[in-house]
Amino acid sequence: NVALVHRGLLGCSPTQPSCAVTFHCLELFHQIRRCQSSFSVQAMAKVLCALHNVTYTSHFHVLLVDAFDTYLCILRHIQTTLKCALGRDGSKWKLRGACPACAYKQPGEPKLCPRRLHSMDGNLSAKRLDGSGSADMRVFNSDYFIPQEKVDRFKDSVQSKSRNVTGSRALTCSDNWVVAKAVQEDQVQVFQQTGIFVLACCHGFVECIAEMRRSGEL
Ligand SMILES: [Zn+2]
Repeated sequence: NVALVHRGLLGCSPTQPSCAVTFHCLELFHQIRRCQSSFSVQAMAKVLCALHNVTYTSHFHVLLVDAFDTYLCILRHIQTTLKCALGRDGSKWKLRGACPACAYKQPGEPKLCPRRLHSMDGNLSAKRLDGSGSADMRVFNSDYFIPQEKVDRFKDSVQSKSRNVTGSRALTCSDNWVVAKAVQEDQVQVFQQTGIFVLACCHGFVECIAEMRRSGEL
């Protein structure tokens, strides 16, 4: 594998690889997936088989998946190491310095009130059924996502505050809120993940993401 990497190739197996993919090809597939996420690994494997005049079998699909997963791991490792070296690691850096326009102040710049503007909103599209995907035990480390344990610390605070809210205005608002009623309570119970909640600054930089688990919109 080391000899292959020196020649710009990534082996499809950790030991004695019989097939290898060039880094250029993996990067091309990476960028295609970023622009068109529905472009499947199977489609890419079929394209490569056609270019090399080889009959496609499902074996090539597995090889390409392994190589592409390894390639993404290498990319993530390089990015994490680079962020550590630049002091841009940690969960708080995204909030403090991800957006240059929000984070960096010029000397003598007048203080704004409020100093920063953020928006938060969620959707109910990224649903995952309870129990699905449990075979994959890998943990996706990302400084965008807020860990579930951190979110869980606040799971009761919204309900306890809403009990204190009185007055017809609040009731009218919640009655008319179509999005909140879009998913019924019994449907929510089927899903482990019901959507994602994103925080972005006024310049459109995403600062953190929380997964909505076993909940509707609040
Ligand atoms: Zn900003």
